[in-house]
Amino acid sequence: MYNLSYDLVGLIFLSILTFYFFWRPIFPNLSNKIYRVILVISIISCALNIITAHTIDYSTQYSLTLNYILNTLLFLFAWSLPYIFYEYIIVLTKKKKYFDNKFHKFLWGYYIVQSLIILSTPFTHFIIYFDENLTYHHGSIYLMMALINFGILCISAFVIIFYGQKMPTIQRIVIPFYILLIVLFDFIQFIHPYLLINGLVLSISAFLMFLTLQNPLSYYDTLTVNYSRKTFLEYLEILIIQDRPFQIVIVDICSTSTINKTFGEKIGTEIISRTGQKVKWASNHNQTFRIDGDVFIVVTFSIDERDKVLNNLKSEFPFKHEYNESFTFDANVHMNYTDSMNDFEDIDEAYQIIIESIKLSKDENLTLINKGTVNTLKKTRKIETLLKKSIDNHDIRIFLQPIVNTQSNIITNAETLVRLYDDELGLVLPDQFIPLAEKDGNITKLTPLIIEEVCKYISENRLPKSFKKISINLSVIDCLNPDLDKLILNILEKYNVDPSFLIFEVTETVASLAPQLKDTMLNIKAAGSTFALDDFGSGYANLDTVIKLPFDIIKIDRQLLLLMDNDQYKTMFSGIMDTLHSLNLETVVEGIETELQAGIVRDVKGTYQQGYLYSKPLSLDDFTKFINSYDSVRS
Ligand code: C2E
Ligand code: CA
Ligand code: CA
Repeated sequence: MYNLSYDLVGLIFLSILTFYFFWRPIFPNLSNKIYRVILVISIISCALNIITAHTIDYSTQYSLTLNYILNTLLFLFAWSLPYIFYEYIIVLTKKKKYFDNKFHKFLWGYYIVQSLIILSTPFTHFIIYFDENLTYHHGSIYLMMALINFGILCISAFVIIFYGQKMPTIQRIVIPFYILLIVLFDFIQFIHPYLLINGLVLSISAFLMFLTLQNPLSYYDTLTVNYSRKTFLEYLEILIIQDRPFQIVIVDICSTSTINKTFGEKIGTEIISRTGQKVKWASNHNQTFRIDGDVFIVVTFSIDERDKVLNNLKSEFPFKHEYNESFTFDANVHMNYTDSMNDFEDIDEAYQIIIESIKLSKDENLTLINKGTVNTLKKTRKIETLLKKSIDNHDIRIFLQPIVNTQSNIITNAETLVRLYDDELGLVLPDQFIPLAEKDGNITKLTPLIIEEVCKYISENRLPKSFKKISINLSVIDCLNPDLDKLILNILEKYNVDPSFLIFEVTETVASLAPQLKDTMLNIKAAGSTFALDDFGSGYANLDTVIKLPFDIIKIDRQLLLLMDNDQYKTMFSGIMDTLHSLNLETVVEGIETELQAGIVRDVKGTYQQGYLYSKPLSLDDFTKFINSYDSVRS
């Protein structure tokens, strides 16, 4: 007679767990879904284990057919658990793509063979059979197949040990532990067949899994009723893997920090919590997340749904919040929403774009982030990646734009204008990546690379004697570096380049932001290099900067040239140029595109001219050819 008591306890336990897991709203990710399947199959296996134990004990009272059907079902369910478990483990490692290999296909192929063998058992008696006395026996290949199933469990344990680096340590320890537990209990069961304990061990391991891996509460944000940021990232990953287009509505509480400061953190927290409830209510059963202190996201899968959510939200906000009995104030939110989004490179890109979208529109309460904006953000991400890669591989493209001496008409100078190159994006212009490089600090690696490349060019090429100087743009961040002078002088020394060959261009903003710049400039100038003030006239043409810092050259922005059809501006331009020259400063007028403009510059005796009329910025090879032919034409 089988002892059913252990398995009955297991069955009750499993039922409670399964009920809880189906009753609670769980987050619909893959691991939760598979865990549900594991629970259902475990409960069915456990029940069948008990029922078959009973029908085997009383085999004479039940028909042989029923006994065969029940036992076949038992093996079909119980022996599919290792395979589903393996799948579950792969999902947990977050390396699903990696495991999409031949072994995986072989495993499921074998699973089908195993199922067919189980189904054939009533006729072939491979797994189990009943003899003429209706006594239950294991079949000829029972042991072999049981061992293979154990093997698969053990492989799952190895997968966790070797590929589960991304998982929390407790999970990496617990999973091999309960696999060991199952193997151990099954071994005991094998030795003492009448001690039914499979169901009990299934329930114990399911419970352990529940505690360490599958607790539905771990997906929630504790303050509000929404899912957490971590859950959002997981969800995003699923959407990206499935390549499923979706829309988001971002709800961002207005001026949370002001609320915190004015009314205290407690009120701030209350506002966040109430907003969370309202977002949840307005979400129309779509998934909602709190991804940052005061930012909520609703994910929808149709524009219709999104609009419903937006309409619900509009009716919920602003809302009155009571500060005390006599005073209430309005709490409001910004709402940014998108059209369909998909085609993300990876979860990182998707998340960054969402974060950027939140920042986009602080002034308006309701803003559509359209496809164009998303594409721009995507491109920015691509450029960011390209920038990092280009710096790491020292693969930047230096272009030089000739600068012509107005008097002699000879190219005496050139300006360094940097570009990046990518097969997909083509040549990327500095306006697109310099601001990014300044923002993420990469400019501090980029500028030295540019200076090196220019020095290398100067030292490795024979350039005409009349060609005297190359200018290099410095950014604000470069100028904030107190060791800028050492950095520059070291590179010059390394390539054995005469410092007087280099001019450094800085803009007016730099002058106001980097107070120590004067000393740095003086140190570099002492070695022989010179300085140019860039983009003069594009902002506030601050003469103060011109006088305070030891500049040698002033570069007049092309904006100023564009005003020259107005006589008053022309007079002013002439006056400014006279003033600069009388201060012993040389001038470069930028953006000369027509002979007319060149004539104006000649009239006011501008020292140098730079612009498309003479040449666009050229790659180093093209520049070398250009300057040599230009020189031979002149001489
Ligand atoms: P910038 O220093 O004012 O450089 C002049 C820009 O005007 C260049 O654009 C040049 O190609 C363009 N330009 C020259 N002649 C003409 C013309 O006749 N007509 C018109 N419409 N444009 C003309 P580019 O190469 O796209 O550079 C843009 C800006 O990027 C530069 O403005 C500079 O601020 C920055 N930049 C370029 N290279 C570097 C660099 O190596 N380091 C840093 N920090 N900034 C750089
Ligand atoms: Ca410049
Ligand atoms: Ca300029």
